[in-house]
Amino acid sequence: MSWKLPLNQIGSGSTFIFGQQLETPRFKQTTLSVEQHPWLSEILDELDCRTAGSEANFAIQLDVEKQSETYRVKAKLRMIPKLECVRSLTEFRSDVITETEALYVKSAETPQGGEHEMSESELESYEHDGSGLMLSEFVTDLIYTSLPDFPLCQPECKGLCTECGCNLNDARECASKSKSQKDFDCPSLKYFQ
Ligand SMILES: [Zn+2]
Ligand SMILES: [Zn+2]
Repeated sequence: MSWKLPLNQIGSGSTFIFGQQLETPRFKQTTLSVEQHPWLSEILDELDCRTAGSEANFAIQLDVEKQSETYRVKAKLRMIPKLECVRSLTEFRSDVITETEALYVKSAETPQGGEHEMSESELESYEHDGSGLMLSEFVTDLIYTSLPDFPLCQPECKGLCTECGCNLNDARECASKSKSQKDFDCPSLKYFQ
């Protein structure tokens, strides 16, 4: 499942939007529906995000501009995905806003072997075959690279108790971590009372 945008739908430049408009579009805009893009719908299910309704929490806006054989894609992404804390395993949501750009270079123009030229700064680049841009690749990369590598439900998350697995962020601290504390609720310690 993918999204290949035909070059003849771009003209000299076009803006494509999933969800709400995030900023003034640079070109004539087309609003796309996730229902017609199963590749994206699958990602949104995984992140528990949606583009419509009162709980809309995902939007992406793509400005695609033709620069001779190369297409420059500028993207703005805003989402509030459901993540799992790597320490406490609790689910939480985090607001993610990213802006990035990429180039779609015609396959034949890509240097064969030898040194890869870092011409157009260090923009991420993709290939296109002269008929369309595989935008699903870029958008998928963008979404996943925008997610935190080590999601934490709070900056100082204390994680889970190694003794009983209780969540150490809860108000009362597990006694296995502070022996002097009498008021505790770590179930594993209750056996020893
Ligand atoms: Zn946590
Ligand atoms: Zn415990």
